[in-house]
Amino acid sequence: LHKITETLERGEQVILFQNRRGFAPLLECKTCGWVPHCVNCDVSLTYHKYQNTLSCHYCGYTYYPPKACEACGSEELELMGFGTEKVEEEIAALFPDVRVDRLDLDTTRSKTAYERIIKDFESGKVRILIGTQMITKGLDFGAVSLVGILSAESLLNYPDFRAHERAFQMMVQVSGRAGRRQKQGEVVLQTTQITHPIIDMVVRFDYKQLIDVQLMERQLFKYPPYYRLINLIFRSKDAFVLDRISKQYADLLREKFGPRVLGPVAPPIGRVQTFYIKNIVIKIEVSAPIAPVRDVLDGVYKQMQAVPEFKQVLLHYDVDPM
Ligand SMILES: [Zn+2]
Ligand SMILES: [Zn+2]
Repeated sequence: LHKITETLERGEQVILFQNRRGFAPLLECKTCGWVPHCVNCDVSLTYHKYQNTLSCHYCGYTYYPPKACEACGSEELELMGFGTEKVEEEIAALFPDVRVDRLDLDTTRSKTAYERIIKDFESGKVRILIGTQMITKGLDFGAVSLVGILSAESLLNYPDFRAHERAFQMMVQVSGRAGRRQKQGEVVLQTTQITHPIIDMVVRFDYKQLIDVQLMERQLFKYPPYYRLINLIFRSKDAFVLDRISKQYADLLREKFGPRVLGPVAPPIGRVQTFYIKNIVIKIEVSAPIAPVRDVLDGVYKQMQAVPEFKQVLLHYDVDPM
């Protein structure tokens, strides 16, 4: 915090990066730990104070916050964690004489709003800008000399094999916002996982080590660039049909590809917009020719079309998912 004060005293600007939108990500029952979930998707809802609503960031559905816990009836519901809106409120309270603004999906619903926020910050009217990864997208502010990355660990905890690479990239990108012209900028990382190797690499801007470690892990666990990933995504409104069909599909694939076939498994978010989801992943050596692989996939698809229930399932492919 005193870094912010110092920077402002020098007449310079501050960017604070928080990768979560909303006020507090979660509303939680203090008695039993119940958390409100979206009716359409398998995710917890985010609290937005300004509108006093809970909203789902996957399907956009909004709810009024419940008065009492739906599991135990307790009226003691507590806000947990924090998002951009909460950061904005706290910073505005701490620095009442300074204009603070927020750049995220919620404040930029219209095109003009986005441009206004950027313009106000560029002109220096706004001194502290708080934002999600939108802030990292190719913006260049000359007078920014301090960038704060809040809860950096939340970037690392996504269940995705690219999470670490992405987190590194994002943190370095955000850091790049500081002092891009003449002056040397400063970056402050706030994290509860100070010893996390990725955080350490960011601090040292160590691309080389990141790449080495990542490549080693990926070879070990059969990920790109050593293996090509083919992701089959099955979606259905009927969880039982989805279960049966995806299992049957995987069995047929396994007859041809053997242990290269993984799944079916439900992704971390198993239901989005009322559709249940199951994934099958096939890992193929990069050296293998792709045409026979495609023939096998086509063959299995044709075989499955003979199964009536398959009509209730949507399937699409994601090759080398990014
Ligand atoms: Zn939803
Ligand atoms: Zn409860």
